Amino acid sequence: MPDWSNWSGRHRLRTQRLHFLRSEADAVALAANAAREGLRLRTAGAGHSHAPLVPCEDLIVDAQALAGVISVDNQNKRAWVGAGTCIHSLGAPLNAAGLGLHNQGDIDQQAIAGATATGTHGTGVALRNLSSAVTGMRIATASGELITATADQNSELWRAARLHLGAFGIVTALELQLRAAYRLKEYSARVSIDEVLPQVDTSIAHHRHFEFFWYPQNDVAFVKTIDETAEPAVYPLADEGSRLGWSHEVLPNHRPHKHTEMEYSVPAEHGVACFNALRELLTTRHKDVAWPVEFRTLAADDVWLSTAYERPTVTLSVHQTTDADETGYYRDCEAIFRHYEGRPHWGKMHYLDGATLRTIHPRWDDWWRVRNAIDPNRTFLNSYLEGLSTSRR
Ligand SMILES: Cc1cc2nc3c(=O)[nH]c(=O)nc-3n(C[C@H](O)[C@H](O)[C@H](O)COP(=O)(O)OP(=O)(O)OC[C@H]3O[C@@H](n4cnc5c(N)ncnc54)[C@H](O)[C@@H]3O)c2cc1C
Repeated sequence: MPDWSNWSGRHRLRTQRLHFLRSEADAVALAANAAREGLRLRTAGAGHSHAPLVPCEDLIVDAQALAGVISVDNQNKRAWVGAGTCIHSLGAPLNAAGLGLHNQGDIDQQAIAGATATGTHGTGVALRNLSSAVTGMRIATASGELITATADQNSELWRAARLHLGAFGIVTALELQLRAAYRLKEYSARVSIDEVLPQVDTSIAHHRHFEFFWYPQNDVAFVKTIDETAEPAVYPLADEGSRLGWSHEVLPNHRPHKHTEMEYSVPAEHGVACFNALRELLTTRHKDVAWPVEFRTLAADDVWLSTAYERPTVTLSVHQTTDADETGYYRDCEAIFRHYEGRPHWGKMHYLDGATLRTIHPRWDDWWRVRNAIDPNRTFLNSYLEGLSTSRR
């Protein structure tokens, strides 16, 4: 039996079958066969999720070969791309077409369908997550069809599946809303957190991107701002923190140190208070934790299961090394996040059950209704998602 493991190594399993997709036709046949045979099928992107979204004992489908830019619509600044395309492979071809993503996350190693599956985001008060950029999808479904979903065609499916959790079928291609290619200039500094906090609102408002990592053991923050510039790129690119280049060159970072992560999105107005409560926790009960707390911003959107659904957001992440037991620390953090009305990141760790998630996601029942209609025999749910489901067979 083949093995599958996620990036952190926390989720390792033996699956009956690991299938490497090479074509949409294969995806369509595979989805139909799995449904007919009563198998569970989960599609893997780059395996960077900390939540056990991919593990599945019957069949894991690796879609990373469905890669590349398929077509570009320069007039509407959109492009269809293969679902398995690694985000780092999108930058250069889109740039050559004069286009770029509005924003990206901290790294660019994820498959685009994996990143949009979980609401992956970067930072920026006016910038939405990657799921919000999805204007179209092609999905190989349990019925053996290849369904196109856009705002005009199968629109309810599109509304639900922009943040899809791999639960609607095998996504083979995505259409993304882009913008004209742009250059960015980065500035960073190590500053006492007590200097950073009084300036947070101003910094958020004045920069396209603002974020900080606060290191509890020396009470210092690594603060980063990034803004658009007309200045030419400077090559070789400088190290993280002072790069000047195209957006896809400046936004991603290198994060080699294995860790686990919990991240919650809280209403923007609670961001600093929630951070302060985490700071208190780390300087009293969890003094041993050396990993930083990350503070970012995210614009409100209309994606049904987005953590920023209809509310301007601050995202706060906590981390721990993979060889430590993070449970006590993360549970204490989660109590704080819950106090501030937080919604957990879909790709990261949390301890909530479906009944609780239902109370914090206004479109929870709609999402499950649309999902269940397209996959009535639950082919595309693994035991983790079954556990979260509030709609049983
Ligand atoms: C080092 C690191 C840095 C990170 N930085 C950020 C960050 O800055 N911002 C942020 O928001 N998140 C971040 N994350 C989380 C990460 O972006 C998400 O977990 C993302 O979903 C991972 O994408 P992936 O391609 O690895 O997908 P996977 O983890 O492999 O899968 C994620 C989901 O996508 C589904 N899926 C993937 N491809 C398909 C397909 N073709 N069809 C159907 N379903 C599919 C899977 O079934 C699963 O449900 C980070 C994670 C790590 C480990």
